[in-house]
Amino acid sequence: MSFTSAQGQAKAVRLLSGLLSRGRLPPALLLAGPEGVGKALLAHDFAKALLCPAGQPAEPCGLCPDCQAVDRRLHPDVKAVNQGYQTALNEGEASRGATLRVDTILHLRRDMELQPLRGRWKVAVIEDAHTLELESSNALLKALEEPPPRTLWILTSAQRERLPGTVRSRCALIPCSPLPSQLVAEILSRAGVPAERARRLAALSEGSASRALRLAQDPGVPESMIETPLAPLNAADALPREAPLARERAEQALYALSQDVRLRHLDGELSFSRAERPLRRLERLRRCLRSNADPRTVLLLACLEAQGLRQR
Ligand SMILES: [Zn+2]
Repeated sequence: MSFTSAQGQAKAVRLLSGLLSRGRLPPALLLAGPEGVGKALLAHDFAKALLCPAGQPAEPCGLCPDCQAVDRRLHPDVKAVNQGYQTALNEGEASRGATLRVDTILHLRRDMELQPLRGRWKVAVIEDAHTLELESSNALLKALEEPPPRTLWILTSAQRERLPGTVRSRCALIPCSPLPSQLVAEILSRAGVPAERARRLAALSEGSASRALRLAQDPGVPESMIETPLAPLNAADALPREAPLARERAEQALYALSQDVRLRHLDGELSFSRAERPLRRLERLRRCLRSNADPRTVLLLACLEAQGLRQR
């Protein structure tokens, strides 16, 4: 038995189960791996295992009020720190960008200093921790340097290299892997995608269930970036101002553009010789993006590349 229903993360589950059964926790964990592989689910299931008064140390019962409250993301001692949390703090006013701001982290810190209301622990799950603004990272670092007793801080990130080294060094690293393509296909099928299409999209998903689902639901994304002569410029201009967010959106767009080329190749619309070079260029642009190239320039070049392929 395991503490979690998350699939495809045997190594991470083993590491986390080990921590639970030894009963000695580091003050902070960093669940790092590609987007859409179940990191937030693992984090919350881990919190459930800590808080469940009924089950074995590494096996929450899943039925008691604590377990159910964590499953519904309503447990008073488990904070899911994400855009929804930030928006709720601002009385429903959506934030200007999707970064985590310093006032949000200061609020979280004050909250974590209070005694647990129900359980023995207080847990903060900071999702997409790479979206912390610099000041927010510094505020978090203060908490990680001297964590209040009986608090656990779990960070999840698909871009852990973007977290300050000082924050990373305070966290025990739990690496999460891309999901096997068979599992992604099953997840798509469960979401109602026909089996053959699920299998094909899964093969292109790079092991990310959320990417595969996005592709299944929104295959038209690349079209809007290349349909008119000015579309690439507009797509680049539409990127958010905040650098981490702009980079994330550009990365998603580049992925979608590459997948569009791959799908058209699989459909027989593009020969291998026509698909190969643009794919290599798009891959090079993705690497540039990861090593800090300007997201707008990268996205513009990528859209022009894809547009050229349509016109040729
Ligand atoms: Zn329970």
